Amino acid sequence: MSARKNWIKPTITPHREGILNKFGRITAKEFIEGIEGIPIKDLVSQYGSPLFVLSEKQLRSNIRRLKQAFETRYQPVIFGWSYKTNYLNAVCAVLHQEGSWAEVVSLFEYEKARSLGVSGNRILFNGPHKTKDTLALCVQEGARIHIDNMDELYLLEEVARAADKVVSVTIRLNFDNGFTEPWSRFGFNIESGQAIDAARRISNSQWLNLCGLHSHIGTFVLEPNAYSSQIKIMCEFMETAEQQTGCIIDSLDVGGGFASHLDLQGVYISTEQTIPSVEQYADAICTTLLRATAQRRAQNKPQPTLIVESGRAVVDDAEALISSVVSTRRLPSGKPAAVLDAGVNLLFTAFWYHHRVQPTRALDGLAEETVLYGPLCMNIDVVRQSIMIPPLQVGDQLIITPVGAYNNTQWLQFIEYRPNVVMIHEDGQISIIRKAENLSSMNQLEILPDHLHGNFKLS
Ligand SMILES: *Cc1c(COP(=O)(O)O)cnc(C)c1O
Repeated sequence: MSARKNWIKPTITPHREGILNKFGRITAKEFIEGIEGIPIKDLVSQYGSPLFVLSEKQLRSNIRRLKQAFETRYQPVIFGWSYKTNYLNAVCAVLHQEGSWAEVVSLFEYEKARSLGVSGNRILFNGPHKTKDTLALCVQEGARIHIDNMDELYLLEEVARAADKVVSVTIRLNFDNGFTEPWSRFGFNIESGQAIDAARRISNSQWLNLCGLHSHIGTFVLEPNAYSSQIKIMCEFMETAEQQTGCIIDSLDVGGGFASHLDLQGVYISTEQTIPSVEQYADAICTTLLRATAQRRAQNKPQPTLIVESGRAVVDDAEALISSVVSTRRLPSGKPAAVLDAGVNLLFTAFWYHHRVQPTRALDGLAEETVLYGPLCMNIDVVRQSIMIPPLQVGDQLIITPVGAYNNTQWLQFIEYRPNVVMIHEDGQISIIRKAENLSSMNQLEILPDHLHGNFKLS
């Protein structure tokens, strides 16, 4: 007897041409065979699937372009690499070689930077969680502490007194820049007077010395004018604080947030065409800063150092995720679906963004709106809710980009092992920069109590 065939609901598929942007639609001819000249097939056969692939060349070129954009418009500028965006050692090391300091928000990130050989005085320590021990370490090693709140200010003062050291500090500010949602849960608010209170409190302290201002207005900020507004407000506050407390501000840190080339979910017009270039962000920031500090220069006061903590715009497009189709099906609605070996466990940013998905061969047939699922036994595991793509086959590879920002840090060890991450070096050599997990690496931190060894009653 021949195998019973499954009934498949007949469907009518309108043949639509050119109505979706390049993120939404794959034409039959559009495919890529390799990354930096290395065939996808070779990468997968050697390092497995799924696989993260980083391009050292792209990463260096991105940070150089960012530096050039700022340094040709303003000096001096310091760049701080935002560890939480991607703290794989190889990524951080490339950026430190390119001159970026480390920008960290936890003891773990701080220790990672130190273990790579970054000295304390080249580390900017942000974030709302710094314990007394962490602050003591920062004071001892000369790290640049960005104070987040009053409790931290008091704690740091205590630590400085105990160490018998006067500590130079930066305060984090929040305010309404008129463009982005104020991140008022971080730092001291300007409008309410909290920020100037903090400045006064520091100037009254024998142990603290206010010398820097910081603010980070958001992530994926699509409006360069938000930064002009930010700079204007920070410079006004700088003048006020200096006049009222006698401090001298020598650095202004604008944080990060420059958009990378992704589409936001729920936005039906591709934002890709409207994403500002790093030069546009640099222009908005530096032009405003030069204007706002003109009077200082006239009075021969020192020009504040500009600090830029860009994360996603530096790393996102330097990394791709290769994933393979493990099964295909038609949903009861008639919509085709494919299950991939990589899902939201590896692609945390799929919750907010639409990634570009490209096949690695010319796909035959009519493009249809297709769902791409990940491998998890969870309904939420959707890589793309809808993408116009011709029929996929088991074993097909898809290249998902850009994935360099916030995936290798926010990925979840959930259900599946996390895969290899490789870097293609500038000279074309390939090396594993983070090994795939396996049972022994997973079990390394677990301790099974003696009485739970064996004795299983499974019959
Ligand atoms: C996350 C973060 C950054 C980097 O943000 P991107 O959106 O990745 O550019 C910079 N500064 C601070 C304080 C941050 O928390």
